[in-house]
Amino acid sequence: MHKLLEVIDLKKYFVTKNGLLHAVDGVSFSVEEGKTLGVVGESGCGKSTLGRLVIRLIDATDGKIIYEGQDITKTECKGSLRREMQIIFQDPFSSLNPRMSVYQIIEEPIRIHKMYKNKAEIPSKVNELMARVGLAAKYADSYPHELDGGRRQRIGIARALALNPKFIVCDEPVSALDVSIQAQILNLLMDLQEDRKLTYMFISHDLSVVKHVSDEIMVMYLGLVVEKCKTDELFEHTLHPYSKALLSAVPEPKVKKKKEMKLIQGEITSPIDPKPGCRFAPRCTYARQTCHQVTPELKEIMPGHFVSCHFVNEINSI
Ligand code: SF4
Repeated sequence: MHKLLEVIDLKKYFVTKNGLLHAVDGVSFSVEEGKTLGVVGESGCGKSTLGRLVIRLIDATDGKIIYEGQDITKTECKGSLRREMQIIFQDPFSSLNPRMSVYQIIEEPIRIHKMYKNKAEIPSKVNELMARVGLAAKYADSYPHELDGGRRQRIGIARALALNPKFIVCDEPVSALDVSIQAQILNLLMDLQEDRKLTYMFISHDLSVVKHVSDEIMVMYLGLVVEKCKTDELFEHTLHPYSKALLSAVPEPKVKKKKEMKLIQGEITSPIDPKPGCRFAPRCTYARQTCHQVTPELKEIMPGHFVSCHFVNEINSI
């Protein structure tokens, strides 16, 4: 399989008045062409910053981003690279210009990047994109505030598709939508992936959503990857204490007996100038002294299954 994107030891630190905030702190992964990498974790774990880093919306502090075999870590993202790497944002309302109609929003990238042989083709391209994402032609002259959340997100998807991208970062694309609309948008994204051989990095705080769309899942906690493996493997053998807690919080529609929920208690470690040790230690029921002193490495515990925890074998009786 062809590796479309490879990220090596990527870091992003922000300067704050209290010190350096380690938003992304040495993350490595790769995504194969036509596949979906799910990135999951709670707010503030660095998943959205990671998404913005890989498509070069913000500069990395250190590390490498390799796209199609080329190091793009310091490349200015414009021209063909910008066309190939797109993003769908969480909040379709704030990411759409309220002064532009649906037609104008979708037409803008086509015009700016000259995605046509002659200008007369533009209206049919816009109509085609609207139809592909399930937006009726009658909405072409509507403004974002006149439409519901699902239709607004369809505009965001059409806008991302307008440039025929290969790689799309989907940053919490359904978390602002009602559950029934979420399913429609997820199905649309999966259909488009099949039609156009798209590669996705799908970011969400909701493990049940990520499970539905991903081939592989990466669980992040305070700027670090704590667990990474194929999607089925994560749900069959959840090994990290934090992933177990995330999984126990996923609601199930038919619960025969009361599900035991692993509540996470304790203070979240500050991401500003973090000290050595496991960042999950203050909230982990298995934490021992070593956990507070030595940072665990991400190690392959089973084939293709990586976990960062000193006591993973003991906790899971492996
Ligand atoms: Fe818990 Fe220690 Fe493992 Fe961190 S290293 S997850 S604190 S057992």
